[in-house]
Amino acid sequence: MNLLPQFDFKRPQSLHEALAALTKEGAMAIAGGTDLLPNLRRGIGLPSQLVDLSALAGLSAVERQPDGGLRIGALVSLETLAESPLAPDAVKQAALGVAGPTHRAQATLGGNLCQDTRCVFYNQSDWWREGNGYCLKYRGDKCHVVAKSDRCYATYHGDIAPALMVLDAKVEIMGPKGTRSLALAGLFQEQGAKHLTLEAGELLTHIVIPPQAGWLSAYEKARVREAIEFPLAGVAVALKKEGGKIAGLRVAITGTNSAPLMVPVDELIGQVWNASAAETLAKSVRKISNVLKSTVSSVKYRRRMALALARKLTEALWIKAA
Ligand SMILES: Cc1cc2nc3c(=O)[nH]c(=O)nc-3n(C[C@H](O)[C@H](O)[C@H](O)COP(=O)(O)OP(=O)(O)OC[C@H]3O[C@@H](n4cnc5c(N)ncnc54)[C@H](O)[C@@H]3O)c2cc1C
Ligand code: SF4
Repeated sequence: MNLLPQFDFKRPQSLHEALAALTKEGAMAIAGGTDLLPNLRRGIGLPSQLVDLSALAGLSAVERQPDGGLRIGALVSLETLAESPLAPDAVKQAALGVAGPTHRAQATLGGNLCQDTRCVFYNQSDWWREGNGYCLKYRGDKCHVVAKSDRCYATYHGDIAPALMVLDAKVEIMGPKGTRSLALAGLFQEQGAKHLTLEAGELLTHIVIPPQAGWLSAYEKARVREAIEFPLAGVAVALKKEGGKIAGLRVAITGTNSAPLMVPVDELIGQVWNASAAETLAKSVRKISNVLKSTVSSVKYRRRMALALARKLTEALWIKAA
């Protein structure tokens, strides 16, 4: 592994200072550093300046809102999130599934959502990538996963985004042009080399989850071993049952595409959960997922696990709601 490259380092004490520091050409934010630093040591990225967010006040709490919803600071650690009595089940399960305990104590929610996409041809040492002619995502001009492609298909493997998406979460963003808020799904786009819709110098400050009365949620991921492991496929489900029917259903997937995606499930609303509904759900997951050879695991296994987890979690929530 290489040494870190040379860069300036700033540790601002206020959001205002942080945003100013990020206007420097080539500046990057760093929160827990658990995603960014391994990449920099592999020669992926050459920031002119790292802007350490860790001293910023007001971004480290999980707070109940007057309407019963939650507002979570981008600097909340995954350890805090996994242990929070306020966090919905899907979020706790997703946070607890990230890496190991020391890692979760350091890693932040904002960094988790904004983590880089991954690919077996990209998350390698510099000499390995150089030997293979680099690739479209960084420094090269061809994709080794989809030959002749003009876009990168690196996969988004974050655990927490789908869990928040099925809760209808929004993100609050601050940047040089002011503040804005958007549905979490809108933070992402299907483009492995630019999967975030953040503009230059923008920071995630908070994640807002609306009240969840009547909703149950869950998250599970497929991994080779029950230890430190990114999701080969991860699924989050939120379900609301009323009068013996599905009154609300949201399903999101990760580890399959360049962005975490909502699965269209509208045709299941008002239905009873049964074998036919399970097949409809599986078809929707199959249609939207685009699993490619971007990890060492088999494409077939990851695709099948996404379908199986979606059915399994929906079934479990349906039974629990009864
Ligand atoms: C061995 C290992 C195992 C891992 N396992 C998992 C796993 O199982 N699941 C998983 O989801 N991830 C995993 N990760 C990836 C990563 O560690 C986590 O996603 C972690 O939550 C990242 O948070 P961080 O605060 O350390 O991010 P950082 O590394 O500090 O930042 C990551 C990216 O987000 C940007 N960023 C950070 N905060 C903000 C903000 N507030 N606004 C805008 N941009 C921001 C940074 O500029 C950077 O580009 C793993 C990493 C390693 C090295
Ligand atoms: S999908 Fe292609 S362009 Fe993207 S990281 Fe992998 S090899 Fe590179």
